[in-house]
Formats: sequence, C-alpha cells, structure tokens
Amino acid sequence: MDFIDLKSQYAALRDNINTRIQRVLDHGQYILGPEVREMEEALVAYTGAKHCISVASGTEALLIALMALDIQPGEEVITTPFTFAATAEMIVLAGGVPVFVDIEPDTANIDVSLIEAAITPSTRAIMPVSLYGQVADMDAINTIAARHGVAVIEDAAQSFGASYKQRKSCNLSTFGCTSFFPSKPLGCYGDGGAIFTSDDRLAQACREIRTHGQSQRYLHTRLGVGGRMDTLQCAVVLGKLDRFEWEIRRRLELGDAYRAKLQAAIPALQLLAVRGDRDCVWAQYTVFVDDRDAVQARLKEAGVPTAVHYPRPLHHQPAYAKYGSADACPLSVAAAARVMSLPMSADLTNEQQDRVVAAVAQALN
Ligand SMILES: *Cc1c(COP(=O)(O)O)cnc(C)c1O
Repeated sequence: MDFIDLKSQYAALRDNINTRIQRVLDHGQYILGPEVREMEEALVAYTGAKHCISVASGTEALLIALMALDIQPGEEVITTPFTFAATAEMIVLAGGVPVFVDIEPDTANIDVSLIEAAITPSTRAIMPVSLYGQVADMDAINTIAARHGVAVIEDAAQSFGASYKQRKSCNLSTFGCTSFFPSKPLGCYGDGGAIFTSDDRLAQACREIRTHGQSQRYLHTRLGVGGRMDTLQCAVVLGKLDRFEWEIRRRLELGDAYRAKLQAAIPALQLLAVRGDRDCVWAQYTVFVDDRDAVQARLKEAGVPTAVHYPRPLHHQPAYAKYGSADACPLSVAAAARVMSLPMSADLTNEQQDRVVAAVAQALN
C-alpha cells in the first residue's frame, strides 16, 4: 500500500491528463501558455477569490505574497513553529522576522488567543497554516489583523478544497497561498503553486513579481523573481480538476471513516480535532501516539507506511533557533514528539483503510 496513492489517480484520469499534456506539446507555449490562464480562471471560480496567480511552487507563493506586502528588514510576521520549514523560511528570505506563536493541542493549528500578545509595532502580517487540511480560526485572526492594520496570509499548502464557514480555503484573508506539489490535495506532476487574493493592487504586484518585477516587457519597476508555473503543470492540474470535487468528498468520507474505525478499535487513541464550522481535507491523516518510533516500526513490519509531519518545531531547528527560545511554544514541542500520519488519498480503498486500522490497533496493543 502506498502512503499516498498517485498511481490509481493517474489510472482514473489517464486519458484526460494525457490529452491535456499532448495539447501543450502541440502548441508549444511552454511558458505562460493558454493553460496557465485557464487554470487560474478555473481556480478563481472554485475558490471564489477574485484573483489567482499561479507560481512555481507553494514556497514561491509565500515569498511572492510577502514581497507584494513590501516587508521591510526587521518587520515581523506571526506564524506557528509547527509547520513545514517553508513557512518561516520565506518570512526570513523576504527580510522579515518570524514570530512563533504556539498551537492548540487538539487541532495543531495556531492558537488564536495567543496572537494579540505577540503583536508589536513592527508586526506586518499574520501567517496561519491550515495544517493537515484544516483552516485555523480565520474570522478571529482577521478581526485581530484588522484591529492592528496587518495583513493575513493563509499558508494553505495543505488545505486546497477545504471549507470554513461555507467559504473555501485560499479565499479567507488578504492572501491564500497553496501548493500543487504532487502529494498535496490538488497536485501536479512537479512543482507548482498559486496565490489567491481579492485585492486588485496586490494581485497586480504578485503578477509583476512573478516575472522579475516587470510591469511591461523589459520594464522592471520592482524587485521580482523567476516564479512562474509552467504550462505543462497547469495542464496537469486542469486534467485533475474534473474529478476534484469527487476527491474532496472522498477525502472527507475517509476522514470520517478513519475517525469512526479508530475510535472503535482503539478508544484511547488521540485523534485530531476538527472544529464544527469547518472541515479537514486530510492532506495528512495525522494522529497522536506515544513511543512513536516503536509504533512506526511495528506498522512498517505490517506493511503500513507512515510519516511524521513534523518531527521538530521550527524553533528547534538550527536555522530558526534564533527566533525563539527552546522552551517557547511547549505544545508545538509536545505535538512534534507524538504526531504520526497514516496512509491517505482519495483512492485509498475501504479495505486498505480497514487494514491500516487493524495494524494500528495491533501496534498499539
Ligand atoms: C508543502 C508545503 C509548503 C511548500 O510547498 P511547495 O510547493 O513544496 O513549495 C509550504 N507550507 C506548507 C505548510 C506545506 O505543507
């Protein structure tokens, strides 16, 4: 069994994806070809955000959004240390300073009640991460941000397709930044990502930054990057969109089934909490276990692949240790020691899921 089953997805979408790719090879517009706009328009329609700017990766999406805000050296961006490194990495690369705020122990998302105390006159933005595919409490975050005049950038790399109060992830704040890395809920066959915003001025800034700060050809009005998503990858995303609604429904169904089956088999197992006003698209189906190394080893023996997202909070990583003392954010430290992700993708079968649950029960008993 695969940890994430991309082969079954390709088998189901083969004709669609192959036709899309062949069309690009035939017209030959590999950079900013017609599929780029077509995908951006399809994702605008899907999310409800006014603008979509496709970019080279989820990492690049975060960087370009931060550059569009014109973060000055030393300005602060509040985020969580319990995330993939790119979140804080891009804050630093944009010239900012990441300010780490701890997480809620049950959802593993940023604890909104701790944000206001972290705001200073230097704060420019709040960057919540929609971890595992569940959006943080964005209404509360937006209220705090508005009170202090700062922007909100949702790191939605894991949550494309998720809903929060009947609205879609990526359309909940100043910016939503997602990733089309192959294993994400909506993946391409390489690197890709997108920025969403409903602010015309910021959208224009992102488009310019994406192509070396050009406001027109060879007129470089600002600092930019080479940050485009290539046409072939947009074609792959378009090829996958036909089944995406089904995939999201299936992910939600599998998430519910995991909860029911795991609770029945192992009542003491701590599962991720999902708040009632939102859903989780389970980019990772993550649970909390003690003695994780041993549990993972037993599962591996039983043929069940697992992974850890993430084994160390960022303030315990050498590159980011200077942005927080080691004993800060204790709940992030605790979560990093206990999280374990189980196989998850829209093509996971009920039988495979039963096998995973049985193996987890065996490994924990
Ligand atoms: C995957 C991921 C990213 C980076 O996306 P890439 O497309 O791999 O650059 C950023 N933040 C989070 C939370 C992620 O999971």
